[in-house]
Order: sequence, then structure tokens, then C-alpha cells
Amino acid sequence: MARAKKNNAIDIGGETIQAGEHASLELEMARLYTHAPLNVSIEVLNGKLEGPILLVCAAIHGDELNGIEIVRQILAKVDTEKLRGTLIAIPVVNVFGFIHKSRYLPDRRDLNRSFPGSERGSIAGRMAYQLFNEVISQCTHVIDLHTAAIHRTNLPQIRANLDNEGAAEMAKAFAAPVMVDAALRDGSLRAEAEAIGIPVITYEAGEALRFEPYAINAGVRGVIRVMRHLGMLRQSRRALPYQPVTARATRWVRAEADGIFRSHIALGERVTKGQILGIISDPAGSNEVEIKASQSGILIGQQTLPVVNEGDAVFHIAFFSQSDELIEQHLEGYLDQVRDDQDDELRWGIGTL
Ligand SMILES: [Zn+2]
Repeated sequence: MARAKKNNAIDIGGETIQAGEHASLELEMARLYTHAPLNVSIEVLNGKLEGPILLVCAAIHGDELNGIEIVRQILAKVDTEKLRGTLIAIPVVNVFGFIHKSRYLPDRRDLNRSFPGSERGSIAGRMAYQLFNEVISQCTHVIDLHTAAIHRTNLPQIRANLDNEGAAEMAKAFAAPVMVDAALRDGSLRAEAEAIGIPVITYEAGEALRFEPYAINAGVRGVIRVMRHLGMLRQSRRALPYQPVTARATRWVRAEADGIFRSHIALGERVTKGQILGIISDPAGSNEVEIKASQSGILIGQQTLPVVNEGDAVFHIAFFSQSDELIEQHLEGYLDQVRDDQDDELRWGIGTL
């Protein structure tokens, strides 16, 4: 590593954090009906030596909780004394949604469609504006932590604009089992930060309103690997456990009837064209309708709620250039590893995940 210069102080929300300091800040985003301020808690670990300024944030969708625990574990692992550059960690961005266990803000707006925001806009616009101007615009890199939307679950995956060199490098270093080259959506943190030259990757894993050890563990490992890759933490001698694979396309399979839904496959499994992925029936079991795969691929997301309406997106299938058998083996190995490595502190579920 080249000799680094002494790090600069950083200003956030009117406070100055000197090189070598770890500060816990409260940034006022908006006001409640009671006129009480609504603050977002921000941890700033400003290393002594100059380096990248990385934002790791979670719960932009207020019900997506796995990322909160990922941030907590990262903060417990990173020592400001040994850090090169600056880590800005926000465990809960959408405090409103978080309080209501909801993806949205009170006006049903999606904070992740409201960037770069507006100083005089609605709550979503003003929160986005504060975050964008006080924090994001100062960063050199961003990792945005998500889960699937409510009643769905995702295989751990990185979504990024892989044509952006900085984002592609972070995505590879993160080494989630699957990378999806995802289009930028207007108003998302990812699109608007990239528009001002800041590469962003989005980690998606597990479901909303849960703590899922495998998804959390994979996320913590991934963020640490990115920090090592960026030179913020000392390099590890351990080689990457596997090379992530990139999906060339993905597609949702939709329900063709209304009713009670039973899934026949799990995340990471291979599906073949014509395979029955699930069944929809009446509550008592009559009028069964099969949901069949129209193409072969790998299941990277699915609905977890056992009731569906016709047209609901129920299975998210990814397509790869490599053979599906190879991909399935790769994912099995990966999932075994994150289950084995998981922190004993988290013991949710029935012991298989
Ligand atoms: Zn989300």
C-alpha cells in the first residue's frame, strides 16, 4: 500500500469529525406531527489516514431489517484506529417507515424513488435532500443494504450497474453468490449517486421484517471484503471463497389464478423448462392450477405469502451463461458456507438456515 496522507476532517450536519475520531451524530430529517424532530442516527468513523469515504446504509425501505444488523456487526468489527479513509454507517435511513414497520413514508412515497430530493418537497423529498446533500455527496462509494419487499424473499445478490467500473469492482469484491446487472431507476439512491460520479452497489438478501442469519452473515462478509478491496482495511490472505456469477437476465413468473399458493422450490435451486414450481388451489384443495417454468434457470427470489391473486409475481428466475447445474452447485457451496460461518449470537429459525 502506498504511504497515505493524514485524513481530512469531515463535516456532517454542522458537526466536524476530526481524523481519528468516531462520532455518533443525529441528523434532523423532518418533524413529526407533534413538532418533535425526527433524527437519523449516523456513525462516522473517520480514520487517521486518507482513503475512500464509504457510506453503508440500511432500511431506506423501513421494513427491510437484515441490513440494520449487518451495520451493527460491521461497526463492532471496524476499529477507527486501523481504518484508512472514512466509514459512514446509517443503520436506519427511513426512520418513519421503520417506526411503522413499513417500506414507505406516511404519504406512501418510496424514499428510494425520491433522490436527490428537494429542500421544499414532501417528507420523502426533504429526507432524500438532507441525506443526499449532507452525506451521499461527500462519499466516494456507497453500499445500500436491502431485502426483498414484504412477503417475498431474495437469495443474497448484488444489484449494480456493471457498466460502471467502480460499481462493478465493488460488486465483484463483495462476492455475493449472484450479481445482477440492474438498470438504474430514476430517483433511486443508486441512479442519483451514480449521476454525480459515486458508484453504488445494492445488496439484496432475505425478506422484510426478519433477521436471517445467512443473509446477515453474507452481508457482513461482503461489506468487509469491499472495504479491504478499497484499501480501507488490511487485506486478508484468504482467497475469495468463490467467484460470483453474473445473471445475464432475470424474469418473474406470475400466478395464473387466485387462491392458496404452495411453493415446490427453494432459493438457489435450478428449475427446468416445464417444471412445476408451485400449485395454486382453493383453500380445501380443489381447482389446482400448476405454475410452470417457461424457461430453465435458477430461483433467486420468491413470494413467501401463501395467498396469491392472478398476475402476482411469485418466482424470480435468473438466467446465466454458464450451465445451470454448475450454478446450482456454486450456490449450494455458498449457502453451506454462510450457514456454517454464522454468528452463534443469532439463532433464529429451525436450524437449517
Ligand atoms: Zn428495499
